[in-house]
Amino acid sequence: MITRSPASLQRVIPMAKETNHPGWQAQLSGALRDPRALLVRLGLDEALLPGAEVGHDLFEVRVPEAYLARIRSGDPEDPLLRQVLPLGVETDSVQGFVSDPLEEAEHTPRPGLIHKYAGRVLLIASPICAINCRYCFRRQFPYAENSPSRTQWNDALDYLRNDTSIAEAILSGGDPLASSDKRLAWLAERLEEIPHLKRLRIHTRLPVVIPDRIDDALLCWLGATRLQKVIVLHINHANEIDDAVINACARLRSIGVTLLNQSVLLRGVNDDIETLATLSERLFEAGILPYYLHVLDPVSGAAHFDVPDEEAVALVAALRERLAGFLMPRLVREVPGERSKTPLN
Ligand SMILES: *Cc1c(COP(=O)(O)O)cnc(C)c1O
Ligand code: SF4
Repeated sequence: MITRSPASLQRVIPMAKETNHPGWQAQLSGALRDPRALLVRLGLDEALLPGAEVGHDLFEVRVPEAYLARIRSGDPEDPLLRQVLPLGVETDSVQGFVSDPLEEAEHTPRPGLIHKYAGRVLLIASPICAINCRYCFRRQFPYAENSPSRTQWNDALDYLRNDTSIAEAILSGGDPLASSDKRLAWLAERLEEIPHLKRLRIHTRLPVVIPDRIDDALLCWLGATRLQKVIVLHINHANEIDDAVINACARLRSIGVTLLNQSVLLRGVNDDIETLATLSERLFEAGILPYYLHVLDPVSGAAHFDVPDEEAVALVAALRERLAGFLMPRLVREVPGERSKTPLN
């Protein structure tokens, strides 16, 4: 009889690097959540504080240490910092920028369940994120009404059971991986019992923000499901991909997860060809395929990140002359009422 020794397992699943980090839950709850502390931690000018406090009052600062460590100290233009630092301009009211740009409230047949596209439904599996991204289209999302209890979950699961056209469940949020493995394992088991479901997709930024989230407990329930597994990460800049992220991705791939990435095109973060080309290359090195490049959803408070459509289209055309076809993300926008994401060309 062949038994798998821990040593041979080690060859199959890349081991988490030996670290003295606190567990992921402690890293999540210990995330920096104070604008002044953010400036001090990164050696930034105090003059940024009044603006940061104004932005923070609208949508609180939240950045875990593992992500902070990738931000250059003393550089207010750092592309990772720009994603998390609140600014006074977030209070500007800009025409066309609204609180629910995707009109998701219209497509919520059960609390925590959004069914907009054929064959797949999105489940809000956790109300919180590991990081608060300033451009997030969910920055105004009414999470209190959309973080289902067990009974509401059963309601959502009934909806999936009763619609045989649904082949894919997408866990989204907030960040679904901010939920405990116990909850997620329960949900994955209920989902795999639904015979017409083929795929489990997870939209998450946690493996990037706190790579230690990809621990043995997660690999255990996720590896056990019969469903095909897709994880769509959210990475906007190559500097977000450090060795710990590469290791977390390798572990996910070792249990058969397909890794894709979606980015948002953001002024001052990734709005040039060099940055986008490097991002695609670096993603592929980590075993992740570029999937979508979203233009900004017009959510109020994020107008300063906007890149006009003509510029976005020109950037992507230039990128296409640089990159292998499979390294090209699809440039899309989400248009309320459409049956899919809408390509820009
Ligand atoms: C984006 C999105 C999906 C997934 O769309 P894909 O094009 O399959 O990636 C599903 N449901 C909702 C509500 C979405 O916003
Ligand atoms: S939902 Fe995604 S983009 Fe929005 S704050 Fe959370 S991690 Fe950031």
